[in-house]
Amino acid sequence: MKFFMFIAALLTVLAQEGLTQSGGSQGGKTVLIRGAYSHPKAFWDKGGKLNDYGVNAIFVHYGSITEDMIARAKAEGCQVFAEFATLNGKGWVEQHPDAHPINDKGERAPAATWFMGACPTNKAFRESRMQALRELLTKYDLAGIWMDYLHWHAQFEDPYPIFQKTCFNDSCLDGFQKATGIAVKGTTTEEKAKDILDHHAKAWEDWRCSVIVDWATEIRGIVKSIRPNALVGNYQAPWRDDELGNVRRRCLGLDLDQLAKVVDVFSPMVYHGRCGMPPEWVRDYVEWFSKRVDIQTAPDRFPRLLPIVQAHDEPRIEPAEFEKVLRYGLAGKSTGVMMFTLGSVAQDDGKMAAMKKVYNEVKK
Ligand SMILES: [Zn+2]
Repeated sequence: MKFFMFIAALLTVLAQEGLTQSGGSQGGKTVLIRGAYSHPKAFWDKGGKLNDYGVNAIFVHYGSITEDMIARAKAEGCQVFAEFATLNGKGWVEQHPDAHPINDKGERAPAATWFMGACPTNKAFRESRMQALRELLTKYDLAGIWMDYLHWHAQFEDPYPIFQKTCFNDSCLDGFQKATGIAVKGTTTEEKAKDILDHHAKAWEDWRCSVIVDWATEIRGIVKSIRPNALVGNYQAPWRDDELGNVRRRCLGLDLDQLAKVVDVFSPMVYHGRCGMPPEWVRDYVEWFSKRVDIQTAPDRFPRLLPIVQAHDEPRIEPAEFEKVLRYGLAGKSTGVMMFTLGSVAQDDGKMAAMKKVYNEVKK
């Protein structure tokens, strides 16, 4: 989710009834979520009120959520959704080296710029994340949980992505062999990794996807057991199947067909500036995704589509450009949009005006 190290936050607000009542029409469909990502502090410090700007949902990093923030957001007509870090291992793998992803040389994989993943089959790490989720949902009345960093160790949020082949530690080698019945040959980790990559690459990629789906399935179970009406969202890599040899599935381990069964709302991170693409790319991707996954537009049907577009000035995003991508985020079967970040919007009067204009327009 992050461009860099700062903590971001995501919060969307709308009960099912509220969604239906407050949604506006856009091309024959109802816009359910007029979202904003990040803690609203900078926006509030400027004197803004979320409902004046047409915002009805905020998405906030789970560590930044407080009762006061929820109360004020609700008073301004918003539901609050939590961005929840899943496989972000930074801060954990340093203390628990057994959870550090291992590469095909048998070495600890280096950080991928600012991102450091964790081994998805490490039991202690997984239990710590699930426990954090249970505590979060028990403590706060949230409208949903957006799974972030739900992928194997890699970097896809930077202009120059980094792909690594992991993980070949004992728990992953065991898990792969048990799930597939394949007996991996070799003595050293390097030999075993070579055997897998040379002779069982497809089975290995499929297994890696199944591990990610298993995480999402457990997260969904926890969310629905504690907050039955809460939505399960997913910040998703903005790459089509035919891009870079389907690296989204083959390296990140993201199988859209399988994820569509456990994700209520997909939020592809279509950061056009960051990706070196024109604003129209956002529209094209949203239209592609609307067809690729069987996206639904009714409030009680899933999965739905809610892209996150770029407002953040890295590189500079002009207000007119921001207005364009906000609108393009509502293309296809998308029933909502949010931006990275509300804080970036608050820093720019032009972007504040653009958000107010588009959201109040689609609200009608
Ligand atoms: Zn592993």
